[in-house]
Amino acid sequence: MSQPVPKDVQLRPDGIHMLWDDAHQGYYNHRYLRYQCCCAHCVNEMTGKRTIALVDVRKDVEALDWIAVGRYALQFLWSDAHSTGIYPFALLRQLCQCDQCVKSRAQPQT
Ligand SMILES: [Zn+2]
Ligand SMILES: [Zn+2]
Repeated sequence: MSQPVPKDVQLRPDGIHMLWDDAHQGYYNHRYLRYQCCCAHCVNEMTGKRTIALVDVRKDVEALDWIAVGRYALQFLWSDAHSTGIYPFALLRQLCQCDQCVKSRAQPQT
């Protein structure tokens, strides 16, 4: 099975909109996606634990630009000058915040 690939990425004031080649319309909040960065600054390579908290991420942070990394990932240039994070397509699909994905991941309330 081939991995879905983003066909179109749009950086808008309300978030990052991503159209995938399987017709999935993905959406990410800028700050949320910045927080999910997996680079060596944001995640401890030894423990795999995130070293930044959501409060450490500027509230007004947004993606200024993006580039494709090979055929497997996207890299974003964030407005807080952080650009070392690479987001593999599979991770982006896991993090997707569109209504469909949020609903399918929702846990029953206890
Ligand atoms: Zn990072
Ligand atoms: Zn989605």
